[in-house]
Amino acid sequence: MSDMDPYRVLGIDSGASDAEIKRAYRRLARKYHPDRNPGDSAAEERFKSIQAAFDSIGTSEKRQQHDEQQRFRSMGFDSGGIGMEEILRQMMGNTQFPSNSQSRKSKGIDIELGIDIDVEIAENGGKIPFELSRLRRCRRCEGRSSNSGLRCAVCGGRGVERRESTVTVNIPKGVEQGHKLRLRKMGNEHPTGIPGDLTLIVRIDPGEDRRWESNRLIQTVAVPYTTFLLGGEVKLTTPTGRKIRLSIDAGSLPGDRRRIPGEGIGGSPFDIELVLSEPGPLSAEMNKALQNLRDLGL
Ligand SMILES: [Zn+2]
Repeated sequence: MSDMDPYRVLGIDSGASDAEIKRAYRRLARKYHPDRNPGDSAAEERFKSIQAAFDSIGTSEKRQQHDEQQRFRSMGFDSGGIGMEEILRQMMGNTQFPSNSQSRKSKGIDIELGIDIDVEIAENGGKIPFELSRLRRCRRCEGRSSNSGLRCAVCGGRGVERRESTVTVNIPKGVEQGHKLRLRKMGNEHPTGIPGDLTLIVRIDPGEDRRWESNRLIQTVAVPYTTFLLGGEVKLTTPTGRKIRLSIDAGSLPGDRRRIPGEGIGGSPFDIELVLSEPGPLSAEMNKALQNLRDLGL
């Protein structure tokens, strides 16, 4: 279970915003909830894996941990359940020289972090505050206790300690999904060397019924079954708030896609995916009409 990619389980891109993750989870949890699928063990399994996926990336803190671990794993470090602090300590140890030769080029570990913004900020730019947790040089020993055998009650001889702060970043106008903002020396500090860098990966929250797929914006549009069969028109609102009408050809199918040039964020193309709308409770009249259709072989 823990080996399953939670992003894949929730059907979202790894660059999705935290809000997008919550919406995907709510939608799937509703769909596969045991109350809605009594006696269906496949649905129950699916429900469990959806829960497990959300448990691992459902809060920004847990998600950061998960993403960080994946990154380290892809670099060839298998955390094997040990904490990030331990991995960082090991890596620091690897890059560090004995204190008497005072390393000149040792550098703290870089940090990569997602930052969520809304469509308006993406279009117009703006300042975004975020919480940054990183290793800072120890306040007591100023890094001197690291690798020196000195005892420091604050950092335990590591020379660095984890501290949190609120940082404000300037988001440039017209920024794109997945854009990387590099903040030099804002990564983890090193006991004796220079600080690592911080990379912020922009995650634009696309809003309700929309999701990112490899930096391409997809909006699902619910279409009634009859419109799929007979053709017709649906109304929708684009990410920038424009209301448009979309004509549906007779014989279209759920899952069909359309690309509308220029209607995405910042004038990018905008993809629409047709999905079947849920009809809700059927009236007696609808029921009768459907029975007639069934008798006609539809
Ligand atoms: Zn210290």
